[in-house]
Amino acid sequence: GTILGIETSCDETAAALVRRSSDGSAEILSNVVLSQISEHAAFGGVVPEIAARAHVEALDGIVRAALEDAGATLDDVDAVAATVGPGLVGGLLVGAMTGKAIAAARGLPFVAVNHLEGHALSPRLSDGIAYPYLLLLVSGGHSQILLVRGLGDYERWGTTIDDALGEAFDKTAKLLSLPHPGGPNVEKMAASGDPKRFSLPRPMKGEARLDFSFSGLKTALRLVAEANAPLSDGDVADLCAAFQLAAAETVADRVRRALARFRDEFPGLANPVLGVAGGVGANQAIRAALLAECMAAGARLVAPPLVLCSDNGAMIAYAGLERLEAGLTDPLDAAVRSRWPLDEKSAPLVGHGR
Ligand code: ATP
Ligand code: MG
Ligand code: FE
Repeated sequence: GTILGIETSCDETAAALVRRSSDGSAEILSNVVLSQISEHAAFGGVVPEIAARAHVEALDGIVRAALEDAGATLDDVDAVAATVGPGLVGGLLVGAMTGKAIAAARGLPFVAVNHLEGHALSPRLSDGIAYPYLLLLVSGGHSQILLVRGLGDYERWGTTIDDALGEAFDKTAKLLSLPHPGGPNVEKMAASGDPKRFSLPRPMKGEARLDFSFSGLKTALRLVAEANAPLSDGDVADLCAAFQLAAAETVADRVRRALARFRDEFPGLANPVLGVAGGVGANQAIRAALLAECMAAGARLVAPPLVLCSDNGAMIAYAGLERLEAGLTDPLDAAVRSRWPLDEKSAPLVGHGR
């Protein structure tokens, strides 16, 4: 079957077509992502009202482009999936309404997808890995280590007690007057910087629990920046490099512990896998640190291509496809949810905008 996936939970308007091939693999027929970055740039962050309006204006065209790129029409589509949470409610409503309208008009099943499930399953979409696996989700709103036991069966082993890692990158960029979004710009600056000139803390390093904390790192960086003001371009590059190294080592430390725990829980598993998801997974320094940890632990690192790390429609289509195949479709009055933890067992509340 072929499924249309729609993603509008934050500042990307995205649609994609994904098909289950006869050999059992998932095939991305198209994956169209329109970023609203320029619309929000002047405000240094995502403005919910601007995002919702931009989704309204763009989504029809993006869905059309996804069909066109796939060389398909709606006649070729067997089901429609849309992100219904978590995220900004205005954007979620636009995507959910559009998805439901297409499903209703064509008499197709509708699948209400959790955005985080889209991220969590993306290593299966890109590499076809088997359950169970360990997942590092590092995005703009989340920093989590999850045990992915199966579809809809997630155990959260660690989470951030303050900022998400992507948020920390974005705040660091803002502090250093780099353009939004911060992650890619911090990485770019870090490339020419000396990571050892300034020393920053490694929060939570060595602690047994698998949680993250990044606000102390952010504060330490601010103090160093203030002490060295005014900052030259070289100073900014060195600060970015120091921050990125601290972030990478912090994540690596958590992942080392998580891999050990994973091995304890699944001693018989021949090929333990660590999957990476979320926009920060695009960071090459973090990928390198994760690869080193995986090699040391005899595990395989599955880091999907960059377009599948940040927000996209293909991951939503794919999560929808797995749910559809498991018989998990949703009514057309499925509600959108601004908050929806992945390890919550219950299905989305129906009919009540909670
Ligand atoms: P969530 O999925 O938690 O709701 P989101 O959808 O906004 O959040 P993503 O689109 O997955 O998050 O990722 C965006 C985040 O990834 C931003 O914080 C951005 O700065 C960060 N990011 C993107 N590229 C890089 C990079 N190369 N290095 C570090 N961070 C990056
Ligand atoms: Mg985004
Ligand atoms: Fe996301």
